Amino acid sequence: MSPADRLIQFDHAESVALQYRVIEFSGKLMRRKLIAGNWKMNGSLAANTVLLEGVKAALGDTGCDVAICVPAPYLAQCQALLAGANIALGAQDVSIHESGAYTGEVAAPMLHEFGCKYVIVGHSERRAYHRESDETVARKAVAALKSGLIPIVCVGETLEERETGLTNAVVGRQVDAVLAALDTESTCKIVIAYEPVWAIGTGKTATPHMAQEVHAMIREHLAAKSANAAVTVPILYGGSMKPENAVDLLAMQDIDGGLIGGAALKAAEFVAIVRAAC
Ligand code: PEP
Repeated sequence: MSPADRLIQFDHAESVALQYRVIEFSGKLMRRKLIAGNWKMNGSLAANTVLLEGVKAALGDTGCDVAICVPAPYLAQCQALLAGANIALGAQDVSIHESGAYTGEVAAPMLHEFGCKYVIVGHSERRAYHRESDETVARKAVAALKSGLIPIVCVGETLEERETGLTNAVVGRQVDAVLAALDTESTCKIVIAYEPVWAIGTGKTATPHMAQEVHAMIREHLAAKSANAAVTVPILYGGSMKPENAVDLLAMQDIDGGLIGGAALKAAEFVAIVRAAC
C-alpha cells in the first residue's frame, strides 16, 4: 500500500484536497511548497506590469505553488497579466458579508469573479490597525471558503507576547478560533501562515528552529481537529523572509512555504525565494 493509501480514510472531498497538496517522494509524503507574495498597499499600473513581467520571465516552470496577493483595485490588471502563467492570483482581505450595504468592503464572490484563488485573512496589520478579532478572522475564512477561495490565515505573536512566554497560547488561540468555525473538510483546504509580528517588515527573522517549534505546535492543533488536515494543510512562514534566509527556513520539517512581503516587490528576490523552495 502506498503512503497516500495508508494515510487515513479520506472522503471524496478531502482526497481532492489531498491530491494537489501532497506529493509522494521516495516513499514519503511531502506537502507541496507554496510561496505567496503579499504586495500590501504598494503598486501602480506601470509598476505592476514591470514587476509581474519580471517575475514571469525569470520564473519559468517550478515544482511548487506560487501566488501573488495584490491590492483589490489591481485584481483585473493582474488577472490579465497572469493569464497562462503558473502563478495564482490572491487578494489581501475579504468581507465577512456576501453583498449589501457595506461601503468599502470587497466580497468573496467578487474576488472569485476576478480569478482569485487565495485571500489573506487576519494579517497582523489588519488585526492591529483594524481591530480584527479572532472571531472576525474566522468569519472571513468561512466567507472565503464558501466562495471557493483558499484563505491564507495569518497568526503570530507580538514581541511582548514572545518575551512573556505567551507565543504558544496566543498562536494556538488564533488557530483554534478558525478551526472551531470550520468542518474537517473545509479545514483541509486552508493555508496557515505563521508570521511573528516582530519579524514583519523589520528585517528580523525567526531562526529556523524558533519557527519550526511554532509550526509544529500549529500542526498539533490541526491534528486535534483532523488527522487529514495535519497532513495536508501547508503552514507558511512569514516575517522578513529573503533569499538569504529562505533555504534554511524552508528546510524545516513543518515549514511548507513562505508569505513574502517586502521581497515580493522585487522580481529577482521573489523568484530567488521560489527557487529556494523548489
Ligand atoms: C507580510 O507582510 O506578510 C510579511 C511577511 O512582510 P515582510 O516579508 O516584509 O516581513
